[in-house]
Amino acid sequence: MIYLDHAATTPVPRAVADTIYTVLTEHFGNPSAQYPMGLETKKQVELWRRTVAKALGCESRQLFFTSCGTEGDNWAIQAACWQNRRLGRHIVTTAVEHSAMLEGCRWMEQQGWEVTYLAPDGEGVITAQQVLDAVRPDTALVSCMLVNNELGTVYPIQDIARGLAGKNSQTLLHTDAVQGFLKIPFSAKTLGADFITISAHKIGGPKGIGALYIGPRVKNPRPLLPGGGQEGGLRSGTEATAQIAGFAKAVELRTEGLEGKLRHMAEIKAYAKEQLSAIPDLVFVGRSDAPHILSVSLVGWPSQNIVNDLGSQGICISAGSACHQGKPSQVVAALHLPKKTAGSVVRLSFGPETTREDIDACVQALRRHHDTRMPML
Ligand code: PLP
Repeated sequence: MIYLDHAATTPVPRAVADTIYTVLTEHFGNPSAQYPMGLETKKQVELWRRTVAKALGCESRQLFFTSCGTEGDNWAIQAACWQNRRLGRHIVTTAVEHSAMLEGCRWMEQQGWEVTYLAPDGEGVITAQQVLDAVRPDTALVSCMLVNNELGTVYPIQDIARGLAGKNSQTLLHTDAVQGFLKIPFSAKTLGADFITISAHKIGGPKGIGALYIGPRVKNPRPLLPGGGQEGGLRSGTEATAQIAGFAKAVELRTEGLEGKLRHMAEIKAYAKEQLSAIPDLVFVGRSDAPHILSVSLVGWPSQNIVNDLGSQGICISAGSACHQGKPSQVVAALHLPKKTAGSVVRLSFGPETTREDIDACVQALRRHHDTRMPML
């Protein structure tokens, strides 16, 4: 199998799976239990938290485990809007967010909030100025992703944070960094966001675990799950110890020689671009800044057919975001591409394990698809 869908999810290294298994079978104590196995697990959870927090560049006490990136995004919306509920009922976000954010914002609209969805240019770019221009005295939350999951475009969060301080110092800033964490260099300390969402399964960790960074400007954050008091009383529920351990192990493995891994992915992307440019009717879609994501359109050949054809040959790529199977992607729609181009977009995404041979096989299969199938759009 040739796996070129690392933005959807990533393979779990054996060492991560072994860690999870050991916690499940041997260190299974409830961290709230008062006997040694419970106390020991509690201590371990704090060590695992420290590992993830260090990689994100924050203090352990600022990092709260969640069940996924989707939960982190939704919690950030709720917490920010709760804190600023007397400031106003306006949210600024972008039209190219993941549906975790977009649907979370739509839910707020149903509660009477007003949401401004900023449109990107034809390359997927949104400038800090564009974001700041949309901020009003009643803006409770600005949420802009760090790296777009379909295009790989990186957004200027640090500039937005700086500008926000002058425009409306009470407005809170959230960034969905699910595709940015350990893919582009950044640190919670210097980024300037009040909330940062991350998710383990994009970096070699298990599915079902993520984290939300909550910064010092968030006073008395609104608990997501009131209950037994875990996660500082903000997100109750017995800690998912095995997943947390797997998350920390994945972070540990990914951060070892991280610069080299990022360089490798960037080289793989450059190689893919070079090889793909020889395919007739193929165009690149969006500005890809991140090293691991590249979208292209085989103009005229429907993306779902391409994905199915390559899939039947054991090559995994995706037609836009994996979370939108069967529905047109909002990111591609926001680019206002010609219909034929938009209907033919596929995403290739890479990991540290991706080889040039993987790219060669994918490029050959795409070429074959172009040469042997009739265009239908
Ligand atoms: N945000 C972005 C940018 C993503 O790419 C994804 C997953 O694809 C998510 C949020 C949702 O993360 P999770 O699958 O952990 O809920």
